[in-house]
Amino acid sequence: MSLDWNIDSSWSLFLDRDGVINERPINDYVLEWEKFHFRPNVLSSFSSLCAKFSHVFVVTNQQCVALNKISVSDLENIHSQMQKVISDNGGFITKVFAATELKNKFSKMRKPNTMMAQMAKKEFPSVDFKKSIMVGDTDSDIIFGKKLGMKTVLILTSEKTSIKPDISLNSLSDLSALL
Ligand SMILES: [Mg+2]
Repeated sequence: MSLDWNIDSSWSLFLDRDGVINERPINDYVLEWEKFHFRPNVLSSFSSLCAKFSHVFVVTNQQCVALNKISVSDLENIHSQMQKVISDNGGFITKVFAATELKNKFSKMRKPNTMMAQMAKKEFPSVDFKKSIMVGDTDSDIIFGKKLGMKTVLILTSEKTSIKPDISLNSLSDLSALL
């Protein structure tokens, strides 16, 4: 299988975090770096994957901050460590955006709302949502991508989903080979 999306280096990649980059704790949060475990083969695939894109963003819902389970600075520390390990493995993350508010109807930042992508475009104006791919493991990720006109990739986990993505894959590491 290969894709006819005609990806070139002007494209951007948007990645969900839990369930895509790292193992998603069931009914729990990653509250310390020691509990952040990269999913199998993901780390080794970052180099070839990132080489295909000008920007690679992480867009992650982390209401654990609003629940007072972790501070913003401790969350940022986890992301700094994640970025360093990815960088040490030949990849890069342009910027991490985290929605730290509670999950309720007033949430503006949280996916499936698109504010984190709008913030990315504001800071990096060359980002073109029509030339972007969103990778996630839940319906909210796929809805987020579709609202913005992005290509959507669902990573198959134990999560039950109902929104149809453009493609479904077992791992982020499978994406690079298809592009
Ligand atoms: Mg996820």
